[in-house]
Amino acid sequence: MAPDGLKDALGREMKDLRISVTDRCNFRCRYCMPLEQYEWIDRRQILSFEEITRLASLFVRLGVEEIRLTGGEPLMRHGLENLVSQLAGLEGLKDLSLTTNASLLGQKAGLLARAGLQRVNVSLDSINPQKFRDMTRRDYLSDVIAGLSTAAEAGLNPIKVNSVIERGINDGDILDLVEFSRSNGYWIRFIEYMDVGNSNNWISERMVSKQEILELINARYPLETIERADPSAPAVDYRFADGGGKAGVIASVTEPFCRGCTRARLTADGKLVLCLFADDSHDLKKLLRAGAGDDDILDSIRSAWESRRNRYSEERLEAMNSGAYEPGSRRKLEMISLGG
Ligand code: SAM
Ligand code: SF4
Ligand code: SF4
Repeated sequence: MAPDGLKDALGREMKDLRISVTDRCNFRCRYCMPLEQYEWIDRRQILSFEEITRLASLFVRLGVEEIRLTGGEPLMRHGLENLVSQLAGLEGLKDLSLTTNASLLGQKAGLLARAGLQRVNVSLDSINPQKFRDMTRRDYLSDVIAGLSTAAEAGLNPIKVNSVIERGINDGDILDLVEFSRSNGYWIRFIEYMDVGNSNNWISERMVSKQEILELINARYPLETIERADPSAPAVDYRFADGGGKAGVIASVTEPFCRGCTRARLTADGKLVLCLFADDSHDLKKLLRAGAGDDDILDSIRSAWESRRNRYSEERLEAMNSGAYEPGSRRKLEMISLGG
């Protein structure tokens, strides 16, 4: 429970914070990256490491226990290990992790682990070089695979491989990804393709459901359910019956978990966002740079959280079930600025 019992309007605590450290990315993933419509954040608006650490310490005072660094591609941010070491020293923080496309992880994993990073989630949607190129519009598969090994050697643990599955694109790669992860000791997590942002032309038919993914894996590698340690965690994890590690699915579309969503997001330019599908935000950088004291910033975060009512994924499922869902009907912030 948060120290001062901070709860949103639907009774949800604020326990985890995703910090986007940059909106820049060296990939152009088809399901994420708006190619034309996106205006990059002006560099002067990007929070410094000191500003991020100050805000993060205030979030921790309000009950945040887990911080994940993300982006854009977080490893594009120069000297990220310096931010990691500042955050790792925050009293009360229990978990510090990173989500990355891993193309630069081979150069950075040792530095990050020594700075206090605990674990890493790597996005990898195919181990077929041509498919990887089609999905990311880049040719970095061998760097990603090398980055994963370096992370394991550096002691980051567990290493989770996250794969977004899009029907007709990489649904034929599910078992290859399972085998790749099993043989290297990584945990594989499949993510249902979502209607993030405004430009990925999402239609529900392209989404491969948790049930389909599990049936496919289970037919080849039988799975056993694991008790959920944390009911607010988005992924439902399974263990391979033959002892070959773990697999999971993040079923944001077919089994939304808004009711247990304890996650706040901080954009690279210092805006607090209360939902992955939000179209509005609370400008904390403005307060910071106007010289606000800690109490004023704490009040601002507190009142934003207390008014939070977001439950987009549940509403989307309700609309899909009643035939009323219209993709693109709601304007949202872009994933690349929010950090997934
Ligand atoms: N660049 C880093 C990476 O790719 O891991 C971090 C940022 S990325 C926005 C965070 C996560 O969002 C990635 O795992 C990515 O696969 C996921 N993501 C992006 N677009 C998505 C979509 N349309 N549906 C589901 N997941 C998506
Ligand atoms: Fe970049 Fe990650 Fe988005 Fe791919 S998913 S374009 S790597 S931010
Ligand atoms: Fe949380 Fe919004 Fe996702 Fe629901 S849709 S789980 S409220 S981020």
